[in-house]
Amino acid sequence: METVGQKAILNELFKRLTEPAKSRIKLYQIAILIYMDQILNLVINKFMFFRVKIEEKKSNLSLSKMRQSQIKLDILSKERIQQSLDLVHAKARKSFVDLQKMHENCKSHQETPELFCEPYIHNGFRPINQPYSYYALSLFTKHNETINAWSHYLGAMYTLYLAFTMDFSDHFSWPLLSCLITATIMFISSATAHLMHQKSHLCHMTCFLCDFGGISFNGYGAAFMQTFICSPVWYYKNLEPYLLPIIGLQSALCCLLNSIAQTKYKRPYPPIKRFLQFAPCGLLWLFAILPLFLNFFIDSPGENLKISYALHFCHIFTFLLGAAFFALDFPQRFFPGRLDFFGQGHNIFHVCIFFVVYFQFKACYTDFVNNRDIIKSTRQEPNVYMCFGSLILLVSYYFYMIRSFYNMIKHNFDAEGNLIMTKKTK
Ligand SMILES: [Zn+2]
Repeated sequence: METVGQKAILNELFKRLTEPAKSRIKLYQIAILIYMDQILNLVINKFMFFRVKIEEKKSNLSLSKMRQSQIKLDILSKERIQQSLDLVHAKARKSFVDLQKMHENCKSHQETPELFCEPYIHNGFRPINQPYSYYALSLFTKHNETINAWSHYLGAMYTLYLAFTMDFSDHFSWPLLSCLITATIMFISSATAHLMHQKSHLCHMTCFLCDFGGISFNGYGAAFMQTFICSPVWYYKNLEPYLLPIIGLQSALCCLLNSIAQTKYKRPYPPIKRFLQFAPCGLLWLFAILPLFLNFFIDSPGENLKISYALHFCHIFTFLLGAAFFALDFPQRFFPGRLDFFGQGHNIFHVCIFFVVYFQFKACYTDFVNNRDIIKSTRQEPNVYMCFGSLILLVSYYFYMIRSFYNMIKHNFDAEGNLIMTKKTK
């Protein structure tokens, strides 16, 4: 593309060439024109170069300004985000504190007899000596046992739902059904104990004797189901004639030691009380999970077994987790009086027990479906006496034992069921 100078030169050349020869442009004049044109081009280029630089500088300046304003915006938005987070945190905290506030009829631990008080729980105790209907209806009000009652009533609904909707026409699946029955009774006795125990001292003792009976009963059902379904062939063959007496005796021992611990020791409870509660239950639980370890470490599990092992692992982990929350009074020991309604260790323990039952049943059902043929060919076919007669026998034993302990302790209480020595509330 020709520049302005080049155009002028070409025009001049054309003009001169068309003129008479004497007036034609001389060569040196052309050279000067070309030279001037070069200089002009150089000047123009330099000018354009500086212009571009200036523009760039300007745009850089505006860019940095934009960046600065962006940073300011960022800081502002961060401040705003922080403010909103603080607001959300404050609101959540307030809602949590409001949530923990109890029903206006509830008493503090200073106004409640020592027997009903739990460590690190300061509020939400229902008044004692009310009609039974008051405690039954308190299921729908806020107090420090609401979550404990609901968590296990919901558990009972779930196990009942499974018991009524699953197909148990195959006799070999009856150990699964008997475990569901024991789990349902455990959930109902535990939830009812937490709901009703505050009526009186005697009621408290009786309710928790029933609660321990339910725990021992489920220990039996779970041990029977797991040993029957998950044991290696050689182990079950040797154990079969003694299985029900062994787990029946262990379950009876659980109930007995728990009842002794409950009636013998007074608050504040010594550590031996928890040992007497945990040791026999732990022993029964270890016996129930023994077949899983035998399968895993001695008989290498098949592909199908490996699938159910994730569920077995969840059951074992959840059981240990729940036991730790219960035994250590965690987390309420670090927040005394702040987890009275929701979040106390016993709430978490109850939820864990629900998941223990859930994972245990799912794992055994998976094993049963995958190994049905092996189970059928290596086990004696379960009958009504074995699966349900033994449950009736155990329940009768629990009732007899609870009745015996009730008769042993009832003379310590007055007509209203309050402890004679400490009838006056604090
Ligand atoms: Zn409980």
